[in-house]
Amino acid sequence: MHAHQKTIKHSLQIRGKGLHTGQMIDVTIRPLPIDSGIWFKRTDVSDSRAILAAAENVSDTSLATSIGWGQRRLSTLEHLMAALGGLGVNNIMVEINGPEAPILDGSAEPWVNLLNTAGFQILNAPRAYYRVVKPLKLTDGDKFLAVEPNPDFTVDFTIDFPGFIKTQKRHFKFSETAFANEISPARTFCLLKDVEMMKSQGKALGGGLDNAVVVGDDGILNPEGLRFQDECVRHKILDLIGDLSLAQAPIIGHFTGFKTGHSLNHKIVTALLNTPGYLEKVDAASPVTVKASRTFVAPLKTVLNPPLLGPDGDRAPIFAN
Ligand SMILES: [Zn+2]
Repeated sequence: MHAHQKTIKHSLQIRGKGLHTGQMIDVTIRPLPIDSGIWFKRTDVSDSRAILAAAENVSDTSLATSIGWGQRRLSTLEHLMAALGGLGVNNIMVEINGPEAPILDGSAEPWVNLLNTAGFQILNAPRAYYRVVKPLKLTDGDKFLAVEPNPDFTVDFTIDFPGFIKTQKRHFKFSETAFANEISPARTFCLLKDVEMMKSQGKALGGGLDNAVVVGDDGILNPEGLRFQDECVRHKILDLIGDLSLAQAPIIGHFTGFKTGHSLNHKIVTALLNTPGYLEKVDAASPVTVKASRTFVAPLKTVLNPPLLGPDGDRAPIFAN
């Protein structure tokens, strides 16, 4: 993981279909200076104040992860948040002219590719991390999500579906490269019967075989097949990384997920942040407090002393929330 704060070198734009509304949506992503955080802003409403991508601003986790309320509510942010968290981008403004981020191909890979297109600006400021110092387990029926102290950010995830998907287990040890190669291409998935039910309720109007793995009784409906044999459990790890990014700093620990999703992901972030004793904040550039120093501390020569912003110079203020 990067020891320094990071933004992008240039502003970026992308256009794509919203999963739930089916509308075409434009996104502009702009660099922000040190200590800004990740912000989202709707540009299609009169109240266009930006919202910080923080756990306390999460308003819904039922089908996707949404932040903000009323006009400023924005949905389906988790795959973009996973790309930002997975690449260690922590200062950025995302402007969206609709109620949700576009679903693109249903994975985080297009976001990763887009951000890579801009290139990254390593900022001359240390990055903060959270280290888990006390185990925590949250359960919901037979589902659970647990975290325990560990020198690295690692995940063991298990899903268990009747029919074609069956049981899938995967271990993941985080690095930006492993995230980009092993996790970011994994697409969201759904059961054909659930798609039909959602569409009859006016939901998932933009959903289709170009942005989700659709699972029927006898197998995958997508003609191109799967990207990985265990693509579904990889996508659950992707969603977890996106939801954990709402803690605003990487959480270093070992996570164990069983059949869980956005709701427990969000609950564990909130519980860790709001309950004293579970997390210790660590300054990545301070080797004295960092036990796993090989992972956390970058040599100083990797800091490029760049200007704070990209060439378009649109320095943005820190918005009132
Ligand atoms: Zn997802």
